[in-house]
Amino acid sequence: MEKTELDRQIERAAELVLGSQYPVALVGAGMSVESGIPPFRGPGGIWTKYGEPAMDGYDRLLQDPKGYWLERDSDTGPMAEFRETFAQAKPNPGHLAIAEMEALGLMKCIITQNVDNLHQMAGSRNVAEIHGNSTKLRCIGCTTRWPKEEFHIEDYPPLCPHCDGIVKVDTVMFGEPIPFDVMARCEGETQKCDCMLLIGTTAEVYPAAGFPAAVKAMGGVLIEINPLETVISQRCDVVLRGASGEVLPRMVERIKALRPATGD
Ligand SMILES: [Zn+2]
Repeated sequence: MEKTELDRQIERAAELVLGSQYPVALVGAGMSVESGIPPFRGPGGIWTKYGEPAMDGYDRLLQDPKGYWLERDSDTGPMAEFRETFAQAKPNPGHLAIAEMEALGLMKCIITQNVDNLHQMAGSRNVAEIHGNSTKLRCIGCTTRWPKEEFHIEDYPPLCPHCDGIVKVDTVMFGEPIPFDVMARCEGETQKCDCMLLIGTTAEVYPAAGFPAAVKAMGGVLIEINPLETVISQRCDVVLRGASGEVLPRMVERIKALRPATGD
């Protein structure tokens, strides 16, 4: 059977991953969309339906944390729809392929812009969530996090038992700084990275946009997995044009096939 161009690019990507010391994935909304989570904007987008969230959401939380919590816990509106969508979403074959790479020692960290917890559900362990995790709560003072079901809210707003800071959902709001611990972790992982997989992300929004640029500047390689051309496609060493759920499992198969010959 004749090899297609995509087959050849998958082969090259597998070789680059095997030849690297510290592969890292940078993941964007495209992966979640494949798992049935609607995008924020565009057709079917949550914000298209309900309107854009307030750009000063974080300031309003600081001014009125109780109001923030009452709105969050309402049974209708975008928050309720988010909760329902996330509760039904399941990891797709792309998430499982990344978890398999991690188990093989060929994925050191997953930096994700998604908040849906699907990497952890797929079995991934080292996940840095730039925009937080919708299944967790976080103290805005000391960044302690709790699974939602483990934090018992007795009064609005809930306060941190360690530092008395306001506790909110871990998901980063408009106007909210990226939590400093996550930011430091992403920067540290990027410094070590010599092969970054850009999966379902346009890598246009900072801080995520800075990570592939840093890897490239240090002489590392970039592999793009995306059904659509992006602003970073031209700078990538290998481009896999396809959905991550289709392309990543094929790449992992090639990695496993090549692995014995390459040795450890
Ligand atoms: Zn705290």
